[in-house]
Amino acid sequence: MKIYHISAECYPIAKTGGLGDVVGALPKYQNLLGIDSSVIMPWYDKPFLREHLGQEVYTGQILQGNQSYHFSVLKLKKGVLGFEVYLIKIPGLLDRQEVYGFPDEVAQFIAFQHALLRWICDTNMAPDLFHCHDHHTGLIPFFIENCYDFQALKGIPTVGTVHNGQYQGWMNWENAELMPAFDISKGGLLDWYNTINPLAAMIKCCWAYNTVSTGYLQELFIEANGLEGLFVSEKAKGYGIINGIDDDIWNPENDPFIEANYAAENLIKGKQQNKKTLCKQYGLDFRLPLLSFIGRFAIEKGADLLAPAIQEISLKFKGKVNVLILGSGDSEIESLIRQIQFELKQNIAVIIGYDERLSHQIYASTDFIIMPSRVEPCGLNQLYAMKYGTIPIVRKIGGLKDTVVDLVRKNPNGIVFKEATVKDMISGVRRALTLYNDSTRLNELRKRNMGLDYSWNNSAAKYVQLYQNLINRL
Ligand code: ADP
Repeated sequence: MKIYHISAECYPIAKTGGLGDVVGALPKYQNLLGIDSSVIMPWYDKPFLREHLGQEVYTGQILQGNQSYHFSVLKLKKGVLGFEVYLIKIPGLLDRQEVYGFPDEVAQFIAFQHALLRWICDTNMAPDLFHCHDHHTGLIPFFIENCYDFQALKGIPTVGTVHNGQYQGWMNWENAELMPAFDISKGGLLDWYNTINPLAAMIKCCWAYNTVSTGYLQELFIEANGLEGLFVSEKAKGYGIINGIDDDIWNPENDPFIEANYAAENLIKGKQQNKKTLCKQYGLDFRLPLLSFIGRFAIEKGADLLAPAIQEISLKFKGKVNVLILGSGDSEIESLIRQIQFELKQNIAVIIGYDERLSHQIYASTDFIIMPSRVEPCGLNQLYAMKYGTIPIVRKIGGLKDTVVDLVRKNPNGIVFKEATVKDMISGVRRALTLYNDSTRLNELRKRNMGLDYSWNNSAAKYVQLYQNLINRL
């Protein structure tokens, strides 16, 4: 069985969040199950690629409106990641350092999808199934069925994974001109309320779609940034498959990013050593409990609640807890967080930016990770936290609800609070501090969390089963 994962991100080549982690791991675990699973992604001007790029396998040309683009398909050197990676390089469009945020993003991702299908058609490299990830690749199921140039791919099954339904890739209808020529009578499949909506097109046209947790699937039927009706009407082909974590990358026993490696047997010593170093680096007293947040500064992550929550923490638990924040994103949220740091000066460290190495050090050092998300399709931070013997404090939503079991329940692994409000966050923090003072219970819980299995083994097999069911329909 030959599968192509089509994605904008794939760790360690390019990652801005959970999508990168998933696409950097899932194909590897699928290959271990005996299928042939590869990734096709845009080429970025990234250090990892400069070091590991292999040969060029194809060159071609696409027309976008009246602009012609040359493109090439490059392959990662064999054996670097445990699966094949093909990179689409389009000088003038897909040749930049960053993944997102360009004014011509619409043209970039249409060209990406167009070029990769052109290459696959020209080289007879058709897979048994296309697996598309998020809206950046959401036009593929429509293109292969309705574009005149891709007739050779018609009828190939497609799976669409919704990693985040908040972002849908909306573009106005003028952009249809940038697409490869398609049967105009089928244009309605691209449309959602008079706008081209690639995520909606993916849900309409794919053979099956899934979200990255069952909890999130249920929530999308009620609230999906305008697509709830579509998710309900296409419910029969919808699945929930929880993400896993890549044990090769996220393992405190051999993580090269952390100072002291540790296992469940020596977790107290290991975590303490890492915590000492991290606290020293950021001027925090390591004897106090450490509460951390890692993530995008976005409303959906509840990051706007951080500044008022920290203010409240400093009033209610003054000098009893340290807070560490690593993140970037919304500039208003960023300046509120900087402001609170400036006002408090003590018991707080803020690192604005994206730092993969530091994120590992925080998971290994911190006592608690807080996630006040309003929307959380799966959430990986809580899984990494547990793997590193850290206690997650999470809002009861999406994948957090599916993976974190509160202290008052059987087999607990964390602290769950109900609403994305400062009040509920504070009640979570209060319970965390009580737990911290009960070192026997805290250490039992840490040890238990390190032994939980959130590996990809189960979920990779669920995807393979889904592929097989779809292929069997042919
Ligand atoms: P998202 O919605 O952002 O994809 P996930 O929980 O699915 O959220 O995945 C977040 C991933 O991004 C995790 O691997 C987390 O450690 C990482 N991450 C988020 N922000 C940062 C940051 N500022 N620096 C380093 N890693 C980060």
